[in-house]
Amino acid sequence: MNPGKKLHEWYLIHKRDLPFRKKKQAYPIWISEVMLQQTRVNAMLPLYESFIKRFPNPESLAQAEEDEVLAHWKGLGYYSRARNLRKAAIFLVQNYNGAFPKDLNLVLKLPGIGNYTARAILSIAYDLPLAVLDGNVKRVLSRYYGYTENILSPKADGDLQKKADEFLNLEHPGDHNQAMMELGATLCLPESPKCLLCPLSEDCFARIHQKTSEIPVRVKDKKQITLEGEILVLWNQNCILLVREPKMRFLKGMFHLPYGFTGEVPEETYESTPFFLSLKKSLPKDSSPIGEFKHTITHHKMKFSVFSLPWEDRALVAGLAKELGVESKWVTLSSLDTEFPSSLASKVKKFLLYLES
Ligand code: SF4
Repeated sequence: MNPGKKLHEWYLIHKRDLPFRKKKQAYPIWISEVMLQQTRVNAMLPLYESFIKRFPNPESLAQAEEDEVLAHWKGLGYYSRARNLRKAAIFLVQNYNGAFPKDLNLVLKLPGIGNYTARAILSIAYDLPLAVLDGNVKRVLSRYYGYTENILSPKADGDLQKKADEFLNLEHPGDHNQAMMELGATLCLPESPKCLLCPLSEDCFARIHQKTSEIPVRVKDKKQITLEGEILVLWNQNCILLVREPKMRFLKGMFHLPYGFTGEVPEETYESTPFFLSLKKSLPKDSSPIGEFKHTITHHKMKFSVFSLPWEDRALVAGLAKELGVESKWVTLSSLDTEFPSSLASKVKKFLLYLES
């Protein structure tokens, strides 16, 4: 029997009886996947049940007030996820009659849905052949294939996604993805994996070569990187410009205030984008920042200067954004935290409130 088949048979016998797996429906799978990003299954289940009872479908979630959605998110933390769920539900109702599009690229455009969640929803609900890659799956795959590069490096994501795609059981992609996650959570544990019970043990590189304690390789880059950055707040009719740029080092996939780093940067990926540099040209040479603050993201210590820039012509920004493949939108100051759900937004907002008063 091939390894994919063995894994599938193991999954059918050992899968947990979870409410969101009862039917192959995208909505409950989506809600459960987002909840599970921050909470263990047992703690999440009662919160899931009450959330689904109140918001049983995308329509009910889309119609609800944000405050009520947040109230039902209590106990799960990371409230931006709940806000994004509601926003995505509104988008689904307005554009797809409340159903999930069966297309990875379209699902990835929904607020708050990243590669892992999109693949999980589409494979589990619709059996689309899309392999997922989360921490558990990375561990299983590196041991199974004997992948000895640092799994915390960006390269490993690409390498292991290829292996996940190769290993995917095309007859049962949804079950396969869940089986891989379940295997990582219950047998292929970080310490002392239970190889004797594992359906993949016969072909597993790490088990055969007794390297389960050495694989996966996890090397944390502890070197601190110091960066100086600038944030531009463009104003037009009491609205502020937010952008989403495809190749950003930080805040990937998220609408954010235009920012860039100044001076020497450690590598190309930190360089300011042409879009940011074009906007910055409009800043008068003698401009002083309206405020400065410090911010840390993983091992990056940053100091940002915030510049306010009244902007008359929205069409100019739209044209420039289009030319450079950047998405842009104008939002009110009061919605800044929800449109740009990062602590960076709150730090900038303090200076803007001061400007308004
Ligand atoms: S045999 Fe052991 S190391 Fe290999 S996948 Fe199974 S549990 Fe993990």
